[in-house]
Amino acid sequence: MQLKIFGKGFNYSQDGPGNRLVYHLSGCNMHCPWCSNPEGMKPSGSEPPYPIKDIYNEILSSSPMFFEGGGVTFTGGEATLQPKPLLALLKMLKGANINTCIETNGTSPDLPQLFEFLDHLIIDFKHPDSIKLKQITGIGNETIKQNILAAKNYGIDTLVRIPLIGGFNDDCPLDFAEFLKTANAKNLKVEILKYHEYGKDKWKKLGLDYKMQNAFVTDEQVIRLKETLKSNQINIINT
Ligand code: SF4
Repeated sequence: MQLKIFGKGFNYSQDGPGNRLVYHLSGCNMHCPWCSNPEGMKPSGSEPPYPIKDIYNEILSSSPMFFEGGGVTFTGGEATLQPKPLLALLKMLKGANINTCIETNGTSPDLPQLFEFLDHLIIDFKHPDSIKLKQITGIGNETIKQNILAAKNYGIDTLVRIPLIGGFNDDCPLDFAEFLKTANAKNLKVEILKYHEYGKDKWKKLGLDYKMQNAFVTDEQVIRLKETLKSNQINIINT
């Protein structure tokens, strides 16, 4: 079995705890106009697929670097679009006692099948209104909500990420709170990420049109969302 990967490298504490080897898996089923990795949105034909045995060996030989609770993280693109080789590799890694994490947009109905082989889950919750989410990214939030609730019930260490984006989701803190309070549990935390334009140059280099405009949010907007979530007993992490 093989995985298509468009990038990899070490990252400290951004993609799960500690120092982690992060693999960016090719292809995404959403098309967020702010995506910071647009090169990963399409499954590329030019990237050579990597046998999972080779990836496994690379991870094992990198394990001395997994300090402070580190390990391996699979992100994208969208990692769950290659479900069979990802599941097989996660099983091998758990057999070798490697700390595992995935970052996902949460749209795969099969996501809970991975929980048994994961130490950490990072899942986006981009918009509480399914219609608005679908208008902008192409996919609604029903499965995402189901997966967040499944993660809560399973007890897996879960970080729900809200990318706060002006003109998209910065006007509905109460709606975020209304759903997230149903997912409230010790194992589940929420992180708010302010809109940034780190991917803008990549869009241009790829010949793509970066359509986002005036999407920066203020510190006050972040505080407003945080305070709304906190007043609903939702665990927020400060980053
Ligand atoms: S879900 Fe993530 S990887 Fe996919 S397009 Fe959106 S921001 Fe990019």
